Amino acid sequence: MNTEATQLSSSRIRWQGQIESVQCRAWVWRYKMDNRTHHHLGFNLFVKGEADGREGRFIVAVSNTQHTKLQFRIGDVFRGTAWPCIKAKHDIADYYRAGGFKALSRADAQAVPSEPPFTGPLPTIEVFERRGPRMLDTKHWRKQCFVCMWANKSAVEIEYKFGKVKRYRQEPFCYGPRSCPLYDMGPPRQVQYFDTVPSIDDGWMDELCTGQRGDED
Ligand code: SF4
Repeated sequence: MNTEATQLSSSRIRWQGQIESVQCRAWVWRYKMDNRTHHHLGFNLFVKGEADGREGRFIVAVSNTQHTKLQFRIGDVFRGTAWPCIKAKHDIADYYRAGGFKALSRADAQAVPSEPPFTGPLPTIEVFERRGPRMLDTKHWRKQCFVCMWANKSAVEIEYKFGKVKRYRQEPFCYGPRSCPLYDMGPPRQVQYFDTVPSIDDGWMDELCTGQRGDED
């Protein structure tokens, strides 16, 4: 969660700002070594502006329907309302249940560039679901990949003690072409379980998630 926007208000807030990135919104269930399930919820708007009377950067979660209708893109300036994600463990956003959108200015629509990062308009969430993701290095996500339509940071729920204890964290992923020259998986990721050594996700599940498409897709 973006600490700049962390706050304890539990009532609806107003926000306004310029969109710096639009990424798909998803959460991941992990259990030991060979269980990684991606659940796709909608989209996250990474905004620089003002929320609940404070200036800074914050993330607003929107639905697939809202994105399909409004086609959010980098450079747009929007205002709206939303609720703080105080106990929303499956979201990385600061605010969700967004509504009351008003476009204050729209960026020009652009085609998808032929070189990465691919800053074009995002397709529907079903396309992300069908493509599947690979793990993406955290620094890449934060820097060169941040504006890419295929970048993602997911909330992750780890089944730490099955059915009894869960742990939560965030991880970045990439839904882009497997041939992308900017791609870097980053270090393998540990998946803890309470009574054994952690399992290691060293990328083999990426093959399972994306094996249905070719390198250029
Ligand atoms: S690695 Fe993935 S997220 Fe980064 S630029 Fe390439 S396709 Fe986009």
